[in-house]
Amino acid sequence: MTSPRFPEGALIGVLTTQPLDRVLDYRAPPGGCAAGDHVEVPFGPRKVTGVVWGAGAGDYDPAKVKSAIRVLDIPAMRAPMREFLGRVADYTLTPMPAMLRLATRAPGLTDPPGMRKIFRRGHGQPGRMTPARARVLDLLEEHDGMGFMLGELADLAGVGSSVVKGLVASGAVAEEEAPRDVPYPSLDPEMPGKALTGDQAMAAARLREGIKAGRYGTTLLKGVTGSGKTEVYLEAVAACLAAGRQALVLLPEIALTAEFLTRVEARFGAKPAEWHSGVTTTERRRCWKMVAESGAQLVVGARSALFLPFADLGLIVVDEEHDTSYKQEDGVLYNARDMAVLRASLEKAQVVLASATPSLESWVNVQAGKYARVDLESRFGPAVMPEMRAIDMRGEEVPSGSWISPSLKGAVRERLERGEQSLLFLNRRGYAPLTLCRACGHQIGCKHCDARMVEHRFLKRLMCHQCGETAPMPETCPNCEVTGKLAAVGPGVERITEEAQALFPDARVTVLSSDLFGSARALKARILEIAEGAADIVVGTQLVAKGHNFPKLTLVGVIDSDLGLQGSDLRAAERTFQLMRQVAGRAGRAEARGTALLQSFQPEHPVIRAILSGDEEGFWAAEAAARRAAGVPPYGRMAGIVISSPDMQAAFDLGNRLARLDAPLRRIGAQLFGPAPAPIARVRGRHRVRLLVKAEKTAPLQAALAEWAAQLRLPANLRLAIDIDPQSFL
Ligand code: ADP
Ligand code: ZN
Repeated sequence: MTSPRFPEGALIGVLTTQPLDRVLDYRAPPGGCAAGDHVEVPFGPRKVTGVVWGAGAGDYDPAKVKSAIRVLDIPAMRAPMREFLGRVADYTLTPMPAMLRLATRAPGLTDPPGMRKIFRRGHGQPGRMTPARARVLDLLEEHDGMGFMLGELADLAGVGSSVVKGLVASGAVAEEEAPRDVPYPSLDPEMPGKALTGDQAMAAARLREGIKAGRYGTTLLKGVTGSGKTEVYLEAVAACLAAGRQALVLLPEIALTAEFLTRVEARFGAKPAEWHSGVTTTERRRCWKMVAESGAQLVVGARSALFLPFADLGLIVVDEEHDTSYKQEDGVLYNARDMAVLRASLEKAQVVLASATPSLESWVNVQAGKYARVDLESRFGPAVMPEMRAIDMRGEEVPSGSWISPSLKGAVRERLERGEQSLLFLNRRGYAPLTLCRACGHQIGCKHCDARMVEHRFLKRLMCHQCGETAPMPETCPNCEVTGKLAAVGPGVERITEEAQALFPDARVTVLSSDLFGSARALKARILEIAEGAADIVVGTQLVAKGHNFPKLTLVGVIDSDLGLQGSDLRAAERTFQLMRQVAGRAGRAEARGTALLQSFQPEHPVIRAILSGDEEGFWAAEAAARRAAGVPPYGRMAGIVISSPDMQAAFDLGNRLARLDAPLRRIGAQLFGPAPAPIARVRGRHRVRLLVKAEKTAPLQAALAEWAAQLRLPANLRLAIDIDPQSFL
């Protein structure tokens, strides 16, 4: 399908990133243009860029319509991509300019092609090392061989550009002329992959079929960690590349990219393109352009890679599809997993959703026949699923201020004697979640939020996990001013580390928590050391649940399995189930069979019982039935509305007015709850008020919400965010 062409002077509609909720009329520039072309247009006294969206509406005084200046030398936005942006905007109630910003988030797109100067680590050493120089060199080493532009390098290192130039003079930094935006090295899909086991081969064949057919389809690829899901979906990538189409692999966490790049290089002979916040702006621009010009066959990236301008996208893999980080929690509120399915359906592409513990939504879509499902039954090689048992904490003697039960301690000791590793898992960063004054009972909270300050003993500071505010650990109670009475209450990973070290003074105990590492690279290096045996006991947060390999690990002890079972979140049970199974899956990946021990005060809880019995289908069926009965997602629809303001009363007033104006919602049979203070009622000094809308699955929720919200003009200082299918209820 070719896009309609508009001869010079014809009326066109141009979508810009300016915050106006409509497409603006212009006249086609000299030489004409076509729908999808990126164009430069006058906008007030400025020039801005936009995309030709179609014919102009003609509702603007023809005498005032200005002419577009020129068509930019960037590949036009294809029709499926334009439709994708429109559909995501409608679904998430996002204005189109914000969608366009998401789709053109690559700096310097309009710069003319040519050469440019880039800076990398050179062979020389600086004559004299200064802290500023060291920062520049550290940064370059951190980004292994990557080139930076001068301004970018200076900014990132926090130095003036003269510091970089000084380093160039001594040869410590090399200045080079490089062509802009060269294609990525080509990947060879014909290189042989690993010899697959029976069910791996069958799974790969199923995925290849979909690719060969060149149509849309979504497949849930389920298998425990280590069963070879990555190996199998790389076969689908190979088939896609062989068919001459592009592939996209989404990962939930940047820290996982490095291992994946290595695997792609081993499988296809070169590294893929990368798109995430850890990539330099120059590389991002190259990635964006090459994706559009077919100079990149495979992209590995974070959720925003979904908005790259693929020339011919044939496959999207969403790895760890259940991961909550796929839901964008600020800016445009979209769920990358669901939007991947939408994009693929518009591109006639295949989707692979890979997980050991799929989301209930995906499980339900399989049951309904919308998705196909392929299971990998066993782990690759000799390893089997760990044995899982509960430790009933009601029968254990645990002194106050301690959390490791005698039973768990005994199990760790056995591992130490055999030279194997143990993991103690607790999903709580820091030393203690609460600091309490024993003199007056005061709990130290954040100045800006309704959250408690969490003690981080390694950093010797208190930190708010909501807004990031930190403060030195006080000696004196800020409330009653008594000294020496502040006490840590409850455990965080740092405190468990301390306890484990005291119990096993000769063991090498280490802690893995995202806040303790300066960079993703330092964290990855530490994970590799641990995998190779640099620690006997690893204490870790959720971070360790995400797909790292620890071959010597044979015991997982979950410190608090009950954490997360409580709470108002409708997905609490599902999350606990997934997290516990993911963590347990860390044990026994190589030769030895692993054991997972779950400390719990309520081992008879249905979720704990389902985890232990390994009856996943049973758990899902029960959870699905409960959600269906309650009319909540995925059987009903929900939208969260958060109003925030520096003034609590103003936020409530707006919430109450909206609640009274609920006719558009009532017309579709939706129910409105609230306004109520949000569970975290204050963040960064803004008071937050929440409303919740519940509707039947087939109700036209977005249209009703749009009509409802449009009844009021937002006063300055108030913000209103609508979150369709909210994942988090904070
Ligand atoms: P998952 O993605 O399900 O966690 P992986 O694909 O990462 O599993 O596989 C786990 C480990 O087993 C990896 O190191 C992988 O290279 C290896 N592996 C899986 N299948 C095979 C196979 N058929 N032949 C050789 N090694 C395999
Ligand atoms: Zn705070």
